[in-house]
Amino acid sequence: MRRTTGKHAVARPRTHARALVPVGAVALAVSLSGSVAAGSATAHSEGAQTQAMALIADRGVAVGAAAQQIAITPDFATAAVESAIATREQGAMRAQRATQERVALAKRKAAAKAAAAAKAKRIAAAHRWVSPVKHPNLTSSFGYRWGRLHAGLDFGAVVGTSLHAMSSGTVTKAGWGGGYGMKVEITYWDGTVSYFAHMSQINVAEGQKVAPGEFVGKTGNTGRSTGPHLHLEIHPKGGDPVDPKPWLAKHGLKF
Ligand SMILES: [Zn+2]
Repeated sequence: MRRTTGKHAVARPRTHARALVPVGAVALAVSLSGSVAAGSATAHSEGAQTQAMALIADRGVAVGAAAQQIAITPDFATAAVESAIATREQGAMRAQRATQERVALAKRKAAAKAAAAAKAKRIAAAHRWVSPVKHPNLTSSFGYRWGRLHAGLDFGAVVGTSLHAMSSGTVTKAGWGGGYGMKVEITYWDGTVSYFAHMSQINVAEGQKVAPGEFVGKTGNTGRSTGPHLHLEIHPKGGDPVDPKPWLAKHGLKF
């Protein structure tokens, strides 16, 4: 009569309790947990064990008392307890795993979002456009003069005024350019090529990478020039020069 009091049976370590569960009851418990079809040789019904599980696991009724209440054997009730505990543990583990996976996924998503934002910021910074001179003073526009195309804009500036790369790009020419005098050509990230002509000083070399606003040299009066100024040409995709005015306006630059 050592298992007539349910309190005693419930308080027992689970491994011990399991050892006392008869084979038939274990089979039933397994069938109740849903993995094996019902049909055990024992007389106890599935409903009785479900009832036992509810009494023992949910309401804390002792195994023996529960068994008596539903008129099943204590062994059968013990199997119900085992089954209920196992089911709950599995459920708790699944819930914990799901939570961990949700947290990990949220972390991965946040990291990816931050990386994308940082990349977008880097690209925006690298692709911004800046004026070649700080205070542009337009003195001559694009167009034909006495049958000859003036292929850029002239900005009056004292000799030695700093000139800046207009965006990220590569210096594709740096040196003497005939009528252009000392000239720097920069090919930007979008394929646009700028000419800075009549310079007094060149501070970059061919092949050098430049960032938006990077110092490349100084204005001057070299080549075919009638006074100190920057002659600026814009060659989209390296092709024929276009009027820089609408191009500058489109890129948010003053002239
Ligand atoms: Zn000019």
